Amino acid sequence: MTEAIVIGCGVAGLSSAIRLQEAGFAVSIFSREMPPHTTSDVAGAIWHPISAENLPNGLRWAADCREELMRLVGKADSGIRLVELVEPVETGKEGERWKTLFDDLRPVPADELPTGYSVGFRYTVPLIETPIYMAYLVSRFRANGGVIDQADVADLGQFASANGLLVNCTGAWAGKLTGDSRVFPIRGQIVRLRPQSQITSSFHCHGGPLGFTYIFARTQDCLLGGTSEAGNWSLAPSEATSADILERCASVDRSLLGAELIDVRVGLRPGRDQVRLELEETANGPVIHNYGHSGIGHTLAWGCANDVVRLAKERFG
Ligand SMILES: Cc1cc2nc3c(=O)[nH]c(=O)nc-3n(C[C@H](O)[C@H](O)[C@H](O)COP(=O)(O)OP(=O)(O)OC[C@H]3O[C@@H](n4cnc5c(N)ncnc54)[C@H](O)[C@@H]3O)c2cc1C
Repeated sequence: MTEAIVIGCGVAGLSSAIRLQEAGFAVSIFSREMPPHTTSDVAGAIWHPISAENLPNGLRWAADCREELMRLVGKADSGIRLVELVEPVETGKEGERWKTLFDDLRPVPADELPTGYSVGFRYTVPLIETPIYMAYLVSRFRANGGVIDQADVADLGQFASANGLLVNCTGAWAGKLTGDSRVFPIRGQIVRLRPQSQITSSFHCHGGPLGFTYIFARTQDCLLGGTSEAGNWSLAPSEATSADILERCASVDRSLLGAELIDVRVGLRPGRDQVRLELEETANGPVIHNYGHSGIGHTLAWGCANDVVRLAKERFG
């Protein structure tokens, strides 16, 4: 059995590790942070492939990922369920294109949209309740015989070997290990409130007066966002940012005013102009890089993991 070591225990690392196990590799994960302390745990997250259109393999990865997420819908411990999302847009021109991505896309009457918007859509997407989902991925990996060890890796070369496979899933920190200057952090802050059962549709918008704003009604909390600060490495929550998020979200739904706060969290999305998913033959052995998923790592994870396995099989037969 070929041994594989995965560095990183976020969604990219765990999905790659599980797919490699399913393909017959003996897999260990080494990681500095574990769930619930990774960027992947902080994320909202919804399956949302819009920006995947800009990546050469993006829509294929997103479609493969959706297939696995749909298999997990209704599996109570997976944290995946389908939710209705309301999304105001600036022009409505998106409609024709979005119809190919979301089966049940339909218009929302203007009087049901926040002030300043006249066009919007309603559609169904998989919601990934990350606190539940990341724990599910860890237990799925362990149930397949996987081992996770805490390690702050300073040099990938120490973990690579000629007879084994190394998979680099170190997210925003990948540049520090590879020298890849194209990777950068995109800071995202979220505010978690107690569950809000009165909210029946989640909300997402990316432009217009509210900018980047979302409300995800989850079972264990209600998650509010968002922010997107390229180049900012700070993991410290900002009070001013929380106040701004709360104000934007309350302008969408007044019932959020006065809701009880659970906590505020920050995650660093791994920004890159393209996802780096390729095999590198280093002096110490083969390394597959799988990082740089920016704001859509949960949307692409299983599709990218399938390609990690394809590259691994091509290399090891
Ligand atoms: C607020 C927010 C909202 C988001 N919403 C969505 C969404 O709705 N939909 C969506 O698809 N995506 C969303 N994302 C993006 C998504 O979360 C990321 O793309 C994804 O989590 C990246 O996964 P990753 O495994 O590459 O990185 P991470 O989760 O950051 O994992 C990297 C791992 O590598 C480890 N590591 C790094 N360096 C080293 C080292 N030197 N040695 C050992 N271990 C190391 C870390 O400890 C960690 O375990 C959101 C992100 C944020 C922050």
